[in-house]
Amino acid sequence: VDHELDYPKSPSAMDWSFHYPQYFSYPDQAEPLPGQNIKKVEWADVGCGFGGLLMALAPMFPDTLMLGMEIRTSVTKYVTDRIAATRQSQSLLPSESSEKKPGEYQNVSVIRANAMKHITNFFDKGQLSKIFFLFPDPHFKNRKQKARIITPGLLAEYAYVLRPGGILYTVTDVKDLHDWMAHHLNNHPLFIPIPNSDLEDDPILEAARTSTEEGKKVERNKGDKWVACFRRAENPE
Ligand code: SAM
Repeated sequence: VDHELDYPKSPSAMDWSFHYPQYFSYPDQAEPLPGQNIKKVEWADVGCGFGGLLMALAPMFPDTLMLGMEIRTSVTKYVTDRIAATRQSQSLLPSESSEKKPGEYQNVSVIRANAMKHITNFFDKGQLSKIFFLFPDPHFKNRKQKARIITPGLLAEYAYVLRPGGILYTVTDVKDLHDWMAHHLNNHPLFIPIPNSDLEDDPILEAARTSTEEGKKVERNKGDKWVACFRRAENPE
């Protein structure tokens, strides 16, 4: 426990059944049988804010478990309630069977966490295939370097939880922050820049640019957005 922040000692100690009950329930047993618990969180939205990205992606990718990590208690609670309300309203829609169907938002959740400190407590090596940093650190210039969300040290942790071939997305309206993030990612041996033109038709990048609350605000104010995406390299021999 860290100033009332809850985090597991290691990823295997994390009980996800509270977050994704339909994926982690075993009606006839107390615990999963070996091999039964095959679903894992694959996408993480670091500093998810009010959850706009997750709510956009969840129905588009109903079989992918995605998690927002947010340090502010009240904001985390807002997203928790938002997901619960959406799940409930979806479950009230008429359906042919009681089976889980796409669009029920069973694949999305949020956790209160300091991602800069505890991301490796939640995720195993290579567990994630996507990690998002969307409009992070608005006041980054006033922060000490080690307090920033992208630093050479933290990139090693993000590379650890991201699997080879996985993608790290950054979007910001702060040009200096973009330069800082791109500079450190470009200089990290485990991250390979993806030309923006390669992702032109990527619906995930489109959602990352436009569906978060900050992204919408920047749009309303007709501000610029800076995008930099990187592929996680293969592990060196
Ligand atoms: N990504 C969202 C969006 O685009 O609307 C929110 C952007 S907001 C400017 C940055 C968010 O990151 C805030 O909600 C803040 O509380 C959260 N945050 C900052 N540091 C964090 C950390 N170490 N771990 C988790 N969340 C953090």
